[in-house]
Amino acid sequence: MGIVKTKGIVTKIVNYSDNDKILTVITADQGKIQVFCKGAQKPKSAILASTEFLSFSEFVLYEGKAEMYSLSSADIIEVFYNLRIDLDKLTYATTMAQMMNDVCQEGELSYKKLQLFLNTLYVLSEIDKNLDFIFSVFRIRLLALLGFVPRLAACTSCNKKATEIGDGKYFSIKDNGLKCDTCARIDKGAIKISEVTYTSLVYILSSDAKKIFSFEIPDKDLKELKLLAQVYTNEKLEKEYKVMKM
Ligand SMILES: [Zn+2]
Repeated sequence: MGIVKTKGIVTKIVNYSDNDKILTVITADQGKIQVFCKGAQKPKSAILASTEFLSFSEFVLYEGKAEMYSLSSADIIEVFYNLRIDLDKLTYATTMAQMMNDVCQEGELSYKKLQLFLNTLYVLSEIDKNLDFIFSVFRIRLLALLGFVPRLAACTSCNKKATEIGDGKYFSIKDNGLKCDTCARIDKGAIKISEVTYTSLVYILSSDAKKIFSFEIPDKDLKELKLLAQVYTNEKLEKEYKVMKM
């Protein structure tokens, strides 16, 4: 039986019998894994903190016979404490964790997706930013990591350069990118976007992973960005991810 050491974040917990639980953990090197934790629900369990929802830890695991690991020990790295005491923040984090569970596969390298998720949870937990802003930026960047990188330099239909389109910019969900006002007329799903929303999109997709949240956007443009991120995610992932407001 092999022993594996890996860092990961708990994105789902299923209670199993009275004291045991099965975790879904997103790791950088093994993708999504299932971890069986014996006795993890006992109040005095030393591994309690590491096996909580959204805890990021270094796990030592036994390779089991089935498609599951068993927990040997765990060292907590980050608990994102503020997410646990703020119900609004927790509901956003929960929706993002569901998305991560859906888009991460078993046995794949998931470093960039995990890094994005951890950075997003950090900002959500520690920095005073609009929650829809954080969620929208996360969604757009995640979609890009999954291969849905929108083309923004020119109209996806007629190739007219973004600089020449000026105020008449649209975003086409169908064609993954920019449309000029002429081409948008025959693309019913195209969303009108402001210059601010356009430059925000370019920023989110091109900036360094740790800086994607480092910009400001007025409320009016955030509404556009939010709508675009929502429709784009639902369409490409063929599933509706809604934050359940409490
Ligand atoms: Zn065009």
